[in-house]
Amino acid sequence: MSYLKKLKVEPESKVKLRDFDPSFTGGHKSPRSVADEVEHYQNKLRELQDQLYAEHRHSLLICLQAVDTGGKDGVINHVLGAMNPQGCRVAPFKQPSAEEAAHDFLWRAHKAAPACGEVVIFNRSHYEDVLVVRVHNLVPKDVWSRRYDQINSFEKELVAHQTHILKFFLHISKEEQLKRFKERLDDPTKHWKISEADYKERAFWKDYIAAYEEALSRCSTSQSPWFIIPSNHKWFRNLAIARIVVEHLESLRMKYPKPTVNIGRIRREYHAAERS
Ligand code: AMP
Ligand code: MG
Repeated sequence: MSYLKKLKVEPESKVKLRDFDPSFTGGHKSPRSVADEVEHYQNKLRELQDQLYAEHRHSLLICLQAVDTGGKDGVINHVLGAMNPQGCRVAPFKQPSAEEAAHDFLWRAHKAAPACGEVVIFNRSHYEDVLVVRVHNLVPKDVWSRRYDQINSFEKELVAHQTHILKFFLHISKEEQLKRFKERLDDPTKHWKISEADYKERAFWKDYIAAYEEALSRCSTSQSPWFIIPSNHKWFRNLAIARIVVEHLESLRMKYPKPTVNIGRIRREYHAAERS
């Protein structure tokens, strides 16, 4: 369907997030109307990941970025939870540890990158180093402003090593964020997620938008694209991401490896006795 194409950030384009409606649902009306489709794509995801693991040739890196409550945990749970945990891993990017901070900013990203056959989801990513770091001036401007090119070179290296990179920005409105904070207050199972710092970050909303716009504009390449996922509706967000990942994996035309043994001979030699 064509709407998926519109979610992809064309290389060299100048993203203005106000042009992207966070409530967009691609014409779908309700979670019920897409339930079968979501299930279909979840099953496909599982099959394709099994092939990726068996073939041991490609790897997949999914980067998830969003403001607080944007839905990163939800995407991991609902969409990527469809995959077999064997061969699939989540790498969270928190405030750098002392060891991480003592290295260049890409060190921890490179260490967490997927090996052949693996799917890795970055829950936040190396982009934090041009987002939170830029918004709060954690390093001087001349340091963070060089990072866009450094990120592009780094991702190019990963791509050259058969890593496929899909980057998703979960786009929600400021009002939707407040609504989700409120829901957390009303739900004791979500209380652990509440942090006063998250409320304070709302004061920097405009700065975050500007930082995201620059990262999306400068670091979406044909080999390592960004997608802006309208995420006010969780069900549409899950559907769109599942579809994009499935369609990308399908385009690899993966095949299960040929057997390294003579199947006929093994059947004759070891299983003939069972029939007699
Ligand atoms: P959460 O994902 O809600 O557990 O929060 C992780 C926190 O770590 C967020 O507030 C991020 O902005 C922060 N964080 C991630 N990477 C960096 C970084 N490179 N420098 C500073 N803070 C970071
Ligand atoms: Mg948080």
